[in-house]
Amino acid sequence: MHQIHQIYINGQFVTPHGEELFDLFNPANAQRIGQVRLADERDAMNAVSAAKQAFTEFSRTTKAVRVDYLKRMHAAIVCVEAELTEAIIEEYGAPVSRASWMAKHAASVLLDAATVLEDYDFTQHLGIAEVTMQPIGVAALITPWNSNAGFICGKLAAALAAGCTAVIKPSEMSATQTSIVTRALHEVGLPPGVFNIVTGRGETVGAVLSTHPDIAKVSFTGSTAVGKQILRAGAETLKRITLELGGKSPVLILEDADLKTAIPMALQAGFMNSGQACIAGTRMLVPAQRLAEVEALVTEQVAGIRAGNPNDPATRIGPMVSFKQWQRVQRYIQIGIEEGAYLLAGGPGLPDGIDAGWFIRPTVFSRVTNQMTIAREEIFGPVLSIIPYDDEEQALTIANDTPYGLQAYILSSDLQRAHALASRIDAGRVLINTLAHEPRAPFGGFKQSGIGREYGTFGLEAFLEPKSVLS
Ligand code: NAD
Repeated sequence: MHQIHQIYINGQFVTPHGEELFDLFNPANAQRIGQVRLADERDAMNAVSAAKQAFTEFSRTTKAVRVDYLKRMHAAIVCVEAELTEAIIEEYGAPVSRASWMAKHAASVLLDAATVLEDYDFTQHLGIAEVTMQPIGVAALITPWNSNAGFICGKLAAALAAGCTAVIKPSEMSATQTSIVTRALHEVGLPPGVFNIVTGRGETVGAVLSTHPDIAKVSFTGSTAVGKQILRAGAETLKRITLELGGKSPVLILEDADLKTAIPMALQAGFMNSGQACIAGTRMLVPAQRLAEVEALVTEQVAGIRAGNPNDPATRIGPMVSFKQWQRVQRYIQIGIEEGAYLLAGGPGLPDGIDAGWFIRPTVFSRVTNQMTIAREEIFGPVLSIIPYDDEEQALTIANDTPYGLQAYILSSDLQRAHALASRIDAGRVLINTLAHEPRAPFGGFKQSGIGREYGTFGLEAFLEPKSVLS
């Protein structure tokens, strides 16, 4: 049993003032695996005060000093990669290959930020002005459970690269990952207060961070509903706010696509991270004249996608993180059926041969219209919709007819055509014939998928304020 009874403030592991004990579960068998003692409002305020005190010195450190810190933080996370992978599997249920990628990602984002910082010029001259990019102040970093360690490290890397200090509020459901990351980063020996980690509830710790006058910046990844709450809460003190929210990403399969490669890629895009991915390609747009072919291939391939024990290397889809999330996904499958979508694969209930854990049958609906609930709302589970289109113009209209705009995928054998289409899609990222990530390119959403960008220079500048001095 994991007993996590300390938070991290001012360079020290301390017992929280908060007394609530929160249960941690293994979603693959629904067994309780431990408890975390949650921080409360007072703990959040103590963390802000430590970060504020540390800001004066840290904001004046040189680029070289911060590059060195980031490289040492990277090395520290690399050292705990194996432990982190195990925790991600046990506490979150990611299949082993995904979990090990996630642990590596948590380390690599620190090195990526060091590289960006090395190449970044904080001062430029514009006419008679000297323009300096100045660290914004104390940053609150709020993470979700679907990639907790990666978001902690990624947001912290950008904040520290900029010269900001930070208070991190990780997801309360990811406490074992948080505790591994905290112990590793503590070993680096950053000055006390530069980063503080207070695991607690959104309504308490999160609410303090999004209203506290000494917090200059909030960087939040999570649901669109909570993102809006944070934006409203931060308005009173005009906080700078970065929001990375939900998505309903289209996968445009053009009629010239080679379906033998396009369908496996589309299914991978849709089922990534067990469907619990903001960038999951959940609306598969296919030419109506090739619908029968697509349906046959999807049926055949989904039959070979295993949902089950995340420790088994053959598993592609792990459990949902919680019973609540399982119920939510089940409800959407029911809605799909009730609204008349054609159930091509999967459906309600547990996958065959599984009688415990929060597993979902990999589910694909076909002949879906873009007005159906399952095509409009983010499900956050392995449930995909195939939407037929008549021509490219209609495909584009459907792709853009969503409140979201985080990511889109185009699968085509004609690169020029795909690029022309990409230029007309309203999404922060468009991936053509690839599922690759590019850490130097900005990441974030159009419309209700968020505000601002993370990664690379854009991500760094989200923690900086330009100042012009004229003489
Ligand atoms: P959530 O919005 O419920 O919670 C995210 C974080 O916010 C948690 O740490 C939570 O404790 C905290 N929180 C909750 N209420 C708060 C409040 N009032 N004030 C401040 N903080 C508060 O989301 P979740 O269920 O943890 O994660 C799933 C959601 O996150 C999905 O909708 C998904 O699309 C989104 N997501 C987006 C991205 C992205 O980069 N765009 C990445 C991962 C997840």
